[in-house]
Amino acid sequence: AVVVVGSCMTDLVSLTSRLPKTGETIHGHKFFIGFGGKGANQCVQAARLGAKTSMVCKVGKDSFGNNYIENLKQNDISTEFAYQTEDAATGTASIIVNKEGQNIIVIVAGANLLLNSEDLRAAAGAISRARVLICQLEVTPATSLEALAMARSRGVKTLFNPAPATADLDPQFYALSDVFCCNESEAEILTGLTVSSPADAGKAALVLMGRGCQVVIITLGAEGCVMLSQSEPGPQHIPTENVKAVDTTGAGDSFVGALAFYLAYYPNLPMEEMLKRSNFIAAVSVQAAGTQSSYPYRKDLPLHLF
Ligand code: ADP
Repeated sequence: AVVVVGSCMTDLVSLTSRLPKTGETIHGHKFFIGFGGKGANQCVQAARLGAKTSMVCKVGKDSFGNNYIENLKQNDISTEFAYQTEDAATGTASIIVNKEGQNIIVIVAGANLLLNSEDLRAAAGAISRARVLICQLEVTPATSLEALAMARSRGVKTLFNPAPATADLDPQFYALSDVFCCNESEAEILTGLTVSSPADAGKAALVLMGRGCQVVIITLGAEGCVMLSQSEPGPQHIPTENVKAVDTTGAGDSFVGALAFYLAYYPNLPMEEMLKRSNFIAAVSVQAAGTQSSYPYRKDLPLHLF
């Protein structure tokens, strides 16, 4: 099974012709609510591929929280450790998108930041039985670190996605990551290097590997990803499919969720093959609008991926 210790956020999206100025009220032409949060996104993708999944998270005791838990259930995700609190609202991302596709976003993490040690201890049994545990940085770093440490001490493979990244990431995160997976901009923040090509990503991966992770993966959008493993001599570039991208929001989470699925259910596949397949799945997700709404189900994917 795959256990995710991470975030749930309700996306509140308004489409407008332009972004409002300070103090200004403008009319938008469309509004929709979406399910987001990196943790839940990754969990949904893993579940849609057929992984048995469990989400360890916290939402508010409010309508967004209720709806979110319903969404997890609809995706066949265990919600035994999806807690609801009265002390904060469900995490939200208020997003305004103009006609050029530019956006402004305010995230209020709310209940996500209240996920704590006690909650993790209650989920210890589920974590012990998992093959893979995934963490990101949308709950407190202390909670993510504790979850990774719990997994490590129980022999559960750890997949860490340092997103959103900060330059002062606690060095323990590297040591606790069996697989450390980030995108170009996160790699730049973490290393201080410029990362805009597979060659740059290889250099950044070497720096990150030097901090103690076993495997480093840097995703590169339409360029696929670069992988560096302790067991291989140097960085390897794994290209992705050539597709027409409609909406790349959440592509990275689709990739991480897919990778968790392969790590858990096809542990003997070479890493390069897992990444080829994860690239394929993330490339499917960019061909439809929305975040979770664009993530493919196993039944809609070619058999050679399974
Ligand atoms: P993020 O969503 O975190 O910015 P990336 O943009 O690096 O992450 O995308 C993650 C993965 O999604 C890539 O490694 C690739 O497999 C796939 N992907 C993203 N954009 C495209 C694209 N335009 N064409 C094909 N695949 C893509």
